[in-house]
Amino acid sequence: MKTKILILLRNATDYISGQELCEELGVSRTAVWKVMNQLKEEGYIINSIQNKGYKIEHIPDVMTKSEIASRLGTRWAGRNLYCYEEVGSTNMIAKKKAEESEPHGTLIVADKQTTGRGRRGRSWESPAGTDIYMTLSLKPEFTPDKASMLTLVMAQAVTNAIEEASGLSSGIKWPNDIVVNGKKVCGILTEMSAELDYIHYVVIGVGINVNLPEVSEELKVTATSLFIEGRKKIMRAQIIERVMHYFEEYYELFLQTEDLSGLLNVYNHSLVNCDREVRVLDPKGEYIGTARGINELGELLVEKAEGEIVRVYAGEVSVRGLYGYV
Ligand code: ATP
Repeated sequence: MKTKILILLRNATDYISGQELCEELGVSRTAVWKVMNQLKEEGYIINSIQNKGYKIEHIPDVMTKSEIASRLGTRWAGRNLYCYEEVGSTNMIAKKKAEESEPHGTLIVADKQTTGRGRRGRSWESPAGTDIYMTLSLKPEFTPDKASMLTLVMAQAVTNAIEEASGLSSGIKWPNDIVVNGKKVCGILTEMSAELDYIHYVVIGVGINVNLPEVSEELKVTATSLFIEGRKKIMRAQIIERVMHYFEEYYELFLQTEDLSGLLNVYNHSLVNCDREVRVLDPKGEYIGTARGINELGELLVEKAEGEIVRVYAGEVSVRGLYGYV
C-alpha cells in the first residue's frame, strides 16, 4: 500500500484528498494516515490540509522497497525486490536468494556493504548513505559460455542511466567500469553458478558512486562520484529505476541472438577506450595496442603495431590507458 500511495502522491499535480486515496486503495482513512506518518518518519515531507488532502513536498534520497518499487515500470527486472540497510555484499545475498528459488529478475539493494568485492576478490569501498550497491539475479536458459557478456549488457544500461539521471557524459572502460571524466564511478561484478552446459543462476552486482562527497585517499587517482563531477545530488532510486529499465530492454535484445550483435553499435559508441592506445595487462604478458571496439562476443579488439588484431577476452585481463586509468 505504501508503494501505491507514493505513486498516487507523486503523480498528483495538486493535493489529493484522503477520500480519493481511500477509494483508490480500498482502505480506511486511518490506514492512509498511518502510512503518511511512516513516510514522514522516513524523511518525506507531506503537507496535509483539512478538506484538501495530501501533497508531497520533498522526497528523500532513500532506497526503500516502496520508493524504488513506486518508480519501476519494468515487467520483470527488479520486480521482486529486497532492500537492506547493511549487508556483507549484495552479490552474496542474491546468490542465496537464487538458491532459495527466487525468480529471474530478483533485485537486491543495500545502503551499505561491509565486504563489497570487485573482480578477482579485490575490495569495493561501500560506505553508507550515499551510493548504490545492488545485484540483479537472472536465471537464463542459454549456455554458461555466454554469461560473461551480461557484464557488458549491464555496463551499457548503467551508462545510459547515469547520463539520463545526472546529465553527465559517461562512458564504458572495457569491460566492466563506467567512467566520468576519466575516473571510475561504477564497477560491475558478474558471478555464476552453473553445470558444464546449464546455468543455475547469474548474479550481476553493480556499485555506483552517486552522492559520495569525497573519494578515499587511496582511490583518488582513479575514482570519482557523480556528485563530485556534477556538484548535484541525485536520487539513487531514480538511477536504479533507469538501470532496470535499460537492462530489461537490452537483455531482451541480447536474447534474440544470444550475443551482443544488437548492442554492438551502442556499446562501441560508449566505449571510452575506442581508438585509443591501451596497455593490456594479461597475466601471460603485457602488451600495447590500439583498442578498436568490441566484437559480438564482447571481446575487445586490440590492434598491435604490426597490424595484427588480438581478441582480448575479459576473464583475467585488465586494460589501462597508456598514461593513466583510461
Ligand atoms: P581493472 O581496471 O583493474 O580491471 P576492475 O574493473 O576489474 O579493474 P573491479 O574489480 O571492478 O576493478 O573493482 C575493484 C577495484 O576498484 C579495487 O581494486 C579498487 O581499486 C577500485 N575500487 C574499490 N572501491 C571503489 C569505489 N567505491 N569506487 C571506485 N573504485 C573502487
